Amino acid sequence: MDHFDLKDGVLHAEDVPLAAIADAVGTPAYVYSTATIERHVRVFRDALAALADPWIAFAVKANPNAAVLATLARAGLGADVVSGGELRRALAAGVPAAKIVFSGVGKTAEEMALALDAGIGQFNVESLEELRTLSAVAAARGGKAPIAFRINPNVDAGTHSKISTGRADDKFGIAYDRASAAYAEAAALPGLAIRGVAVHIGSQLTDLAPSRAAFERIGRLIQRLRAEGHAIATADLGGGLGVPYNPAVPVPPDPASYGAMVAEVTAGWDVRLIFEPGRVIVGNAGVLIARVVRVKEGVEYPFVVVDAGMNDLMRPSLYDAWHTVRAAAPSGARFTANIVGPICETGDTFARGREMERVAEGDLVAFMTAGAYGATMAGTYNSRGLVPEIMVSGNNWAVVRDRQPIEALLAADRLPPWMEDEPA
Ligand SMILES: *Cc1c(COP(=O)(O)O)cnc(C)c1O
Repeated sequence: MDHFDLKDGVLHAEDVPLAAIADAVGTPAYVYSTATIERHVRVFRDALAALADPWIAFAVKANPNAAVLATLARAGLGADVVSGGELRRALAAGVPAAKIVFSGVGKTAEEMALALDAGIGQFNVESLEELRTLSAVAAARGGKAPIAFRINPNVDAGTHSKISTGRADDKFGIAYDRASAAYAEAAALPGLAIRGVAVHIGSQLTDLAPSRAAFERIGRLIQRLRAEGHAIATADLGGGLGVPYNPAVPVPPDPASYGAMVAEVTAGWDVRLIFEPGRVIVGNAGVLIARVVRVKEGVEYPFVVVDAGMNDLMRPSLYDAWHTVRAAAPSGARFTANIVGPICETGDTFARGREMERVAEGDLVAFMTAGAYGATMAGTYNSRGLVPEIMVSGNNWAVVRDRQPIEALLAADRLPPWMEDEPA
């Protein structure tokens, strides 16, 4: 459920008409709803109410905007970060270091040092090579890094291949069968304190069975590791719960069913459970608004050319993802169209043969469910500056990231010294 609804016939974000925002800041622009974010935090927490003190660490990569992170920090969430940059953002937004988990296969020694100095809660280590570096960095600073190994459970999450992370050949984690040896090495290294185990099998999960299978394997591993003498105090079950994008496909399991499954599978584990939700917290809480530049005649269907491109919202070109496109002021008429951006790539296509509200040149449209993996994945391809982000709360709204002007792109480039003196 979200707070983007028709009121008096026009699409609103909470109590603010999207057209009012578009008129003030231009298009394209991302618009987030505070009430929707807060609602999803509540729903996710309620779903885990049967668990003792779950540690919910928002996956910052889903939406790292400072206003979004501050909203989540104030709601008590921690953060799952995958880079030094995300760590800095989480700390700047007010997330206590102790509630931060650091994931990712490519942590550099510099990023490890930054996280150790900040005093983060846990490193999810993805390889023995990383483990040795982390131990050395921590020992050199006279401390011990709290660690879990991310286990690759060899489970196919059944989602899009590019966002599946738990198959044996995926780059993530260490193989389930090598876990005992890995924990033994960790116990012997000076700069580490073993805390727990971690798993994350993928994103936009629409079936609970693969997660259940992975968690059951983790439960057996916890028993084995304890039998081998390791103190296992945390189990990080990752993120990945899907959200509805396409009304024509069955809705993904809701947080309540996910929570019930987790409570059942983890009963008796005697650990603090960690969760790393991203999409399910912010996905429905954002839209990308865009203006129809023109409607171009097509062979089978007309092309609705909008002023947003694949550089602004990459998911359709990257993952063949579906975003429902709504008219901000629907007339009631409908048609079938291709929805495309202005970028010089055929991949800059948001939808083909889409049955939708009829729109015409100059109309405002909204790409729904763009709050996760939207602005954060944007780039400047075709020399298009990053688009602004707007936060709405009730009838208030504010720009929470400025539009990047072309001058900023031009200013970042320069000529090499040997070309500076020559006339152009
Ligand atoms: C991306 C990611 C998440 C969040 O995934 P969602 O599908 O947005 O919930 C959680 N943990 C890790 C390690 C990730 O890489």
